[in-house]
Amino acid sequence: MDNCIFCKIIKRELPSNVIYEDDTTISFLDISPANKGHALVISKNHFTNIFDVPGLEFINLSKTVHTIAKAIKEATKADGLNIFLNNEKAAGQIVFHIHYHIIPRYNTDGIQFKWPNKKYEHNESIDYCERIKKCLVK
Ligand code: 5GP
Ligand code: ZN
Repeated sequence: MDNCIFCKIIKRELPSNVIYEDDTTISFLDISPANKGHALVISKNHFTNIFDVPGLEFINLSKTVHTIAKAIKEATKADGLNIFLNNEKAAGQIVFHIHYHIIPRYNTDGIQFKWPNKKYEHNESIDYCERIKKCLVK
C-alpha cells in the first residue's frame, strides 16, 4: 500500500527501531510509547485489521507476539504486559495496517485501560450468545 506508514517501515522507506523480523512479520518500537519498550508487531503483507487478515497470517502474527512479549517483559523488567489489537476507528485504530501493541506494565505506572462493567438485562446474554454463534464462520 503506497500511503501506509507501516508498509514504508517494512520497506525501510521510514526509519524505526526494529526488534525482530521473519518472512511474514516484523516488530519495532512504537514511536509514542505508553511505557518505554512498547512495541508493535505487524504482518509484512498489508491487511487492514482482524476483518481482512487470513487465518494463517494471523497465526504468524500471534506467534511473533508470543516471542516478543516474553523478550519485552524480561528486557524492561515489567511486572506485566498488555497486548492490544485495535480494529477500526470505533475501537481506537489509527493506523490501518494490522498491528498488535505489546505494552510493558508496572504495578505503579498509573495507566488505566478501563471499560465500564455493563450488565445484561434478563436473558439478554443468551440472546447475544446465540446471535454470535449464528455468525461463526462455518
Ligand atoms: P493504533 O491506534 O492504530 O492501534 O496505534 C497506532 C500506533 O502506531 C500508535 O501507538 C502510534 O504511536 C504508532 N505509530 C504511528 N506512526 C508511527 C511511526 O511512524 N513509527 C512508529 N514506530 N510508530 C508509529
Ligand atoms: Zn501497510
